[in-house]
Amino acid sequence: MKIPFFDLKGQYSQIKHEVDAEIQKVLSTGLFMGGVPVLDFENAFSKFLGAEHCVSCANGTDALEVALKALGIGKGDEVLVPANSWVSTAEAVNNVGSEPVFVDVIDREHTIDPYLIEGAVNENTRAIIAVHLYGLPARMDEILPIAKKYHLKVIEDCAQAHGAKLKGRSVGTFGEVSTFSFYPTKNLGAYGDAGAIITNDTLLAEKMRRIANHGQLKKHDHDLIGRTSRLDTLQAAILTIKLNYLDQWVQKRNLIANWYNAYLREGIVRPMNTTNFYHAFHLYVIRTKHRGKLVKLFDELGIGYGIHYPVPLPYIKSYLYKGYHQEQFPVATLLSKEIVSLPLYPELSEQEVKYICHQVNAIG
Ligand SMILES: *Cc1c(COP(=O)(O)O)cnc(C)c1O
Repeated sequence: MKIPFFDLKGQYSQIKHEVDAEIQKVLSTGLFMGGVPVLDFENAFSKFLGAEHCVSCANGTDALEVALKALGIGKGDEVLVPANSWVSTAEAVNNVGSEPVFVDVIDREHTIDPYLIEGAVNENTRAIIAVHLYGLPARMDEILPIAKKYHLKVIEDCAQAHGAKLKGRSVGTFGEVSTFSFYPTKNLGAYGDAGAIITNDTLLAEKMRRIANHGQLKKHDHDLIGRTSRLDTLQAAILTIKLNYLDQWVQKRNLIANWYNAYLREGIVRPMNTTNFYHAFHLYVIRTKHRGKLVKLFDELGIGYGIHYPVPLPYIKSYLYKGYHQEQFPVATLLSKEIVSLPLYPELSEQEVKYICHQVNAIG
């Protein structure tokens, strides 16, 4: 049985009627940037999260960059970043002229280890980027007090965590600012690139809107030196439709994760989940000592998988200049050798999950 790692065609076929009609509507207006659909999506998404402001932009990496810039982070500043994340989290820090400083992650949870944060803080540290990796909320209850103590800004990278909650509150509403990606494979995905920045701070929202639009709020009103990073009208219209399904899709992801939890045999390390955390299950990541054998079998059988990520950020080529030594991130290093992401998308059947588990259990 061939099982892909994700199935965007399957999802589209379920909402085709609505999406096609909306695309036709946008095409017939001839308006492809801005307009009501973009404002509608921004309002719907901030309402969904329980936040005041949503500033849409072109992708999740831009969202991080615009947020950092708006917070005044730049040359000479340092930003704490988890050692295991997608490269964007760190890259955005460099791209505003500051330096990422990596912090190891918690075993089982894969998110930034709050107890290691204080040791990484110095007089140049300005912010922490908490990544809700794989859809599991980072430990905001512990991160926020440390941030307060050292006057650090907190940015939540929610690119993998649409729909995740911590004690009933949506991720993306804990820090000064939070960022989302709507890359097609994310829990809420556009049909191209798209992103958004969330904040409750009205002045910060205005500044981010200016930065993402050449410094202007209206035409020819260039208050500051900005750039361009826009969510286009078609993507906004598509996202508004898909947002209506997000809760049910995340529920389905949790159901599928429970199937995996039930059918995987003992000894396979499963994702952490506790009652306070509502996992959005963007990825279902297990750990196995026999990854090489397992992925070889998956390749032979045509079962999709991912490795998120094969090399911790401090050790990827582009960060070798920082000169971290090999023992500095023991947890991220161990994880990078053993993790495998199994297929998880709302369209996956229980039969398919059973079949995947059967293969995993055979190898261990
Ligand atoms: C996907 C992702 C991003 C970047 O999003 P893009 O829209 O691809 O730029 C940033 N951070 C994390 C953790 C991601 O998974």
